[in-house]
Amino acid sequence: MPEPTPITREQLHADDACDPLASLRQRFLLPDGVSYFDGNSLGPVPATVPDRLDDVIDHQWGQALIRAWNDHGWIDLPRRVGAKIAPLIGAAPDQVVVCDSVSVNLFKLLATALALRPDRRTILCQDDHFPTDLYIARGLADWLGDVRLVPVAIDALDEALAEHGDDVAAVSLAHVGYRSGRLHDMARLTRATHDAGALILWDLSHSVGALAVELDACRADLAVGCGYKFLNGGPGAPAFLYVAERHHDAVGFEHANPLAGWLGHRRPFDFSTEYRPAPGVDRYLCGTPPILALAALDAALDSWDGVDLAAVRRKSIRLGQTFLDLTKQRLDGLGLRVACPVDPDRRGSQICLAHDDGYAVMQALIERGVIGDFRAPDILRFGLCPLYTRHVEVWDAVDILRDVLTRGTYREPRYRQRAKVT
Ligand SMILES: *Cc1c(COP(=O)(O)O)cnc(C)c1O
Repeated sequence: MPEPTPITREQLHADDACDPLASLRQRFLLPDGVSYFDGNSLGPVPATVPDRLDDVIDHQWGQALIRAWNDHGWIDLPRRVGAKIAPLIGAAPDQVVVCDSVSVNLFKLLATALALRPDRRTILCQDDHFPTDLYIARGLADWLGDVRLVPVAIDALDEALAEHGDDVAAVSLAHVGYRSGRLHDMARLTRATHDAGALILWDLSHSVGALAVELDACRADLAVGCGYKFLNGGPGAPAFLYVAERHHDAVGFEHANPLAGWLGHRRPFDFSTEYRPAPGVDRYLCGTPPILALAALDAALDSWDGVDLAAVRRKSIRLGQTFLDLTKQRLDGLGLRVACPVDPDRRGSQICLAHDDGYAVMQALIERGVIGDFRAPDILRFGLCPLYTRHVEVWDAVDILRDVLTRGTYREPRYRQRAKVT
């Protein structure tokens, strides 16, 4: 096969000029001199957020004080923001609520699966899942005592379901692997889980906002996802959870949320001493919602107004293909290995390159204005965010990476000092 003709920077400029999503970049406040490839870890500030926070602080909190819970609808914000996320994840209304962190929501939904399958005591969890997904499942299993957590390789899920058979209550998987960048087949894996009589719990943290998720169409049962990655809700933004409506009246759902806080009560302001869960997903609220953080996420979600998720996915694939092609053309022999799927149908919205000195290489890149991140032990991770990433930025990232590697600048000792957050 003939070698493809090399990509040029001019070509990528031309791609940007006819990019149907190009104008969306104006919806974000991005600093000059930076190419941002870490929106899959912390999205940038949407232009709508500062004014909204000013308004909530000065006008709502400042003037209305406690009346704002009613007058400005604060009390309904977890459901209103959930309803805004629903179309991004293919969920009909009344199945999504915004609350707590992904970690806490994982706990609640794993407990839900066990409540809905009371005679089953095994949780299967992807063995390379994000650590918190594994830790929380382990913590819950150990706490309950009679529940078994079995980590499984995603490619061996069918065998694991066959082996553990009718004892599996929940299968916990990432839609896109945080380190591998692998996109898993939601429809197929959900079907396989259902065939074994179990419920599936999808973690959408690395897919929501990067591609069209189809929870309802895939007949998913449970899902969680992150507010501060591709949804750009800000550092520590609250997470969301989804429970398919068909489970809302199921036997066992009455006590599906063990974190039975007062705001998950049917009538919190009755101050009854007896807990009675609210209908549907409202029962997953626990304590008082963080209104400032919720307002920021709410405003951030306006960035999706009129955005076609199919076009987002097309651009993501294009950016990824360009990154991989340029890696082949310009970074060959420089000690890198492609560590994400090359097939776009199996890849989320990130490119992963392994390097023995990955941490130092990424620090040297960041100093040159190319911000990605490092995932131990050796992965350079570049998130692709079609709402603001330009094609030409992929060129510049590869160009600077080439310079850092050929000149060996990353070997300077200062790039080796590990910060707390990588
Ligand atoms: C980012 C991420 C989380 C984060 O969990 P928090 O409790 O919200 O900090 C959890 N799971 C996955 C898969 C993630 O990518």
